[in-house]
Amino acid sequence: MVWVCCVLGCVNKSGTGIKLFCIPKVNVKYSMSQQQLQKKRRSLWINVINNKTGISDQRICSNHFITGKPNEDESHPDWVPSVKLGTKDALLNDEKTKRDHHRFIRRQKINKTATEAKESTQSRVAAEVVHDDLTSTNPDQEDLDDPDHDTLNLLHSKVKQCEEKLKLLQEELRVTALARDAALKQVDNLIEINDKLLADKHVIVKKLSDLQLHVQNSSIIHQLENDETKTLYYTGLGSFNLLTAIFNALSPGLQEDPRYKISLKEQFILTLMKLRLNLGNRDLGYRFGVAKSTVGCYIEKIITVMHVRLTPALLLWPDKEALMETMPLSFRVHYPKCVAIIDCFEIFCEMHSNIVDKASCYSNYKSHHTAKYMISMTPQGSINFVSKGFGGRSSDVDIVNDSGFLDYIDEGDEVMADRGFLIDEALQIRGATLVMPAFKGRRLQLEGSET
Ligand SMILES: [Zn+2]
Repeated sequence: MVWVCCVLGCVNKSGTGIKLFCIPKVNVKYSMSQQQLQKKRRSLWINVINNKTGISDQRICSNHFITGKPNEDESHPDWVPSVKLGTKDALLNDEKTKRDHHRFIRRQKINKTATEAKESTQSRVAAEVVHDDLTSTNPDQEDLDDPDHDTLNLLHSKVKQCEEKLKLLQEELRVTALARDAALKQVDNLIEINDKLLADKHVIVKKLSDLQLHVQNSSIIHQLENDETKTLYYTGLGSFNLLTAIFNALSPGLQEDPRYKISLKEQFILTLMKLRLNLGNRDLGYRFGVAKSTVGCYIEKIITVMHVRLTPALLLWPDKEALMETMPLSFRVHYPKCVAIIDCFEIFCEMHSNIVDKASCYSNYKSHHTAKYMISMTPQGSINFVSKGFGGRSSDVDIVNDSGFLDYIDEGDEVMADRGFLIDEALQIRGATLVMPAFKGRRLQLEGSET
């Protein structure tokens, strides 16, 4: 069957090398939206053909399409026939159709360019620019003279912009790379410094350890431990073992405190040094690395504990039989019944604020405020009595009478004292005798019978 083109004025027919196409139909197999599109297309076709006769079975030749055939893409100009449609309006429409076609081709090119641009980092900006261009360009303006040329120019300018931006980015990249190199160099330097510091730290730790060892070795305890002469000089005790034994006897009365700067044993040694050498508290503070006032606190505490714990154990009045049996030879000859040798000693003290106490402490003998004690020892040399403290003004006789010393004296006992001790009467009341050692006085030496 021979088909003739249905466009008004067109005489093309099948079998002459010209292709003829059916008017698109609506296919119910497709989705509703696609059917709507097909309806729209069909309506447009019928409208442009402008031939109301026999629509259902008509054909349209390839001459009415820009590309010579219909296109399924809605945005393509050949979606609907648009060329040589026979009427004046159609002719005008032909021109618009050509422009539409150009625009389609152009947009395809631009899209391609944009796709290529997206593929590389450098063209990312270009893609944005093109996109901006597409979205910002006025379509009506595009339709003015020579749109292809304008677009090309636009693209050229965009490419230039992109190149400039690329240069800027490259420059930025170069600066960043330089900064990175500098930072890496700095990191290397820091690592080097860190290594050096670590090495220094090891050296310092070693030195510290040596110093600690040195300090430990130079501590007073360490010194005394290894030197009995020093122990005797500083503490009056014959050996470090004795010192330790006495300290152990005191220990139950002492309590460690984390606030102490030195150990209890060092505090004990400090106290012994004070007793032995009467070193100044400041001197002791320097030696032990503590404050002067702290030294005073330590001494007071240790002395109190020594008094409480040592006095009952060490200050004993010996049994008379034991005393007689161990009497030294010289005493057996001259003073066979001597049980005690007494004397008083005075310790300087601060002036009392109370006027009565102040007066009672002033010693005419020493011309100073003093505290006075009476001390008694056996002929064997052991101390068997120490009185409580009295004011320096107290006389020896008063101290002997008030100290409780006489309670230890039995009938027939002999008590040896210096000439100043006027205690004959007090002793006589108890049936005891006062004996005095030979006194050289102004003589050059004692006589034979006195020795
Ligand atoms: Zn035709």
